[in-house]
Amino acid sequence: MSVRVRFAPSPTGFLHIGGLRTALYNYLFAKHHGGECILRIEDTDQTRFVEGAEENIVDICRWAGMEFDESPEKGGPFGPYRQSERTELYQKYANELLQKGMAYRAFDTSEELDAMRERQKNAGIAAKYDRTVMRSEYTLGPDETQRLLDSGADYCIRLKVPVSGDIRFNDIVRGEVIVNARDVDDQILLKSDGFPTYHLANVVDDHLMQISHVIRGEEWLPSTPKHVLLYQAFDWEMPRFAHLPLLLNPDKSKMSKRFGDVFAKSFREKGFFPDALVNFVALLGWNPTADREIFTMTELIEHFSLEKVNKAGAVFDTKKLEWMNAQYLRASDGQSLLPELQRILHDHSIKISDERAKNILILLRERITFLNEIPSFGAYMFSESFEIDQEYKAKHWNEETSSIIHALLPVLKATESFEHEQLNEIIGGYSKEHGIASKFIIHPLRMMLTGKQVGAGLYETMEVLGKEICINRIERFLQEHGNPS
Ligand code: GLU
Repeated sequence: MSVRVRFAPSPTGFLHIGGLRTALYNYLFAKHHGGECILRIEDTDQTRFVEGAEENIVDICRWAGMEFDESPEKGGPFGPYRQSERTELYQKYANELLQKGMAYRAFDTSEELDAMRERQKNAGIAAKYDRTVMRSEYTLGPDETQRLLDSGADYCIRLKVPVSGDIRFNDIVRGEVIVNARDVDDQILLKSDGFPTYHLANVVDDHLMQISHVIRGEEWLPSTPKHVLLYQAFDWEMPRFAHLPLLLNPDKSKMSKRFGDVFAKSFREKGFFPDALVNFVALLGWNPTADREIFTMTELIEHFSLEKVNKAGAVFDTKKLEWMNAQYLRASDGQSLLPELQRILHDHSIKISDERAKNILILLRERITFLNEIPSFGAYMFSESFEIDQEYKAKHWNEETSSIIHALLPVLKATESFEHEQLNEIIGGYSKEHGIASKFIIHPLRMMLTGKQVGAGLYETMEVLGKEICINRIERFLQEHGNPS
C-alpha cells in the first residue's frame, strides 16, 4: 500500500510546537516509506480564521526542513488543498448521506438548542441531540419538512448515529479503541450556512485525497468514532489512525496553546537552530533507541516508526532543548554558521572579517547555547569598552598580582607569536622559573583581557585577540589600575 499522509492544520493561529510535531511525524513517516506528505488547510470555520496563520505554518515547516509534496501553494492532483475552496464537494457528500438515510435535516434554532442543553444540564445528563424530540425531520414528518424546505427555513444536516452498539477502530499508538454509540452525538455535518464542520470535511478530504494514515494529536481522538461512522456511512475504506501523545509541561500539566512561548516561531526568534528543534521535537513521544539523542533529519527519517510512539504524554523540557541546541552549535563546522553569525554581528553594528568571525565562533561555541549570544558573551572580542566584573577584579587584583603582571609584560611584548601553544610555553615557563602559582597570572590576565571569569581557555582567547590588542589592554589596565591599593 502506498503511504499518503497529510498535515491538516486549521489557520486559527500561529503554528505551535505540538502542531510542528504533528507535521514532523507525518513527514518522517511519509519519507520513511517513500510516500507523500501533503499540506491541507482546514479553514472551514471562518469565524476562527486568523490572518497570516497559513503563511506562518508554511514558513515554519519550510524553516524546519519539511517540504510538502502537495499543498495549496504547490498544488497537486487532489487539489484544491484549502477546504474553503471545496465547499461544493462537502455539500454534495452531505446530500449523498441524506439520500442514503445516514444523515438528516434538523431545523432547530440556536435558542432551541440552548434550551435543550440547559434542560439536560439541569437533569444532570450529558448534552446530546435527541432527534426524536427536537425539530429534526423525524419528529416533523415528511410534509412539515417539505413545507419548511419550501419556505427557505434554515437547517443543518446531522449524522444519524446508531442508538446502540460499539464503534471500534484500531489506533497504531493506542491499540483497539471501543466507544459506545450511545455516547456519540448526532454530529452536525453541514451547517445552515452551507459550510461543513471539521468532521465531514476531514473525512471527505482524507478519502478523496487517498490518505492512507491519519496521524494527529490525541485531542482528536474523541472525534475519531464519528469519523469511523462516516466512513461506514459512505462505505469507504478507512485510513489507519495514529493519535500522538499530549505534550506536557515539566509539572505534567497540559502544555497550553495559550502561552506565547509554545509558538514554533518564538523558538526560531530565540535563536534555536531548526535542526536542533526538529531533533528535539521528534523525540517528544518517540524514542528510536535508548542510548542516542542526536539525529539529523535524514537519520530521523531512516529510524522513524509509528509503532515506537508512546502512549504516555511527553514532557517538554526546555533545558533539554537548550542542551541540544548547544550540541548542534558545538558540532557545527564554523563555516556553515558564518552567514548567520555575520548577520547577527551586523545587527549589533559589528563588522569583522569572516576569518575572524570564524575564529571567535570556534573559540566561544563551547561556552554558549545560542549563536546570538556571541555579541554579548564575547563583547571583549569586538570592542575595548567591555565591562569588567568587579567581583572578579576584587578577588584577583592586588599588590602582588600587579607586580607579577608588571614584570610579565616585557616578556609578553618580546614574545613573537601569540599562538596558544607558544603562550602556554612562555607563560608556563615564566611562572615555573619564578615560582609563581599560575593562578596569579591567569586570573589577572583574563580579567583585564576579557573582563570576566567565564570564557574559553586564556591562551586560546589571547591567540584570537592577537598580540596587539592583548598588549594594549594590559598596558591600558596597568595605567588605569596599576596601583591596586
Ligand atoms: N484541522 C485539524 C487541526 O487543526 C486537523 C485534525 C486532523 O488532523 O484531523 O488540527
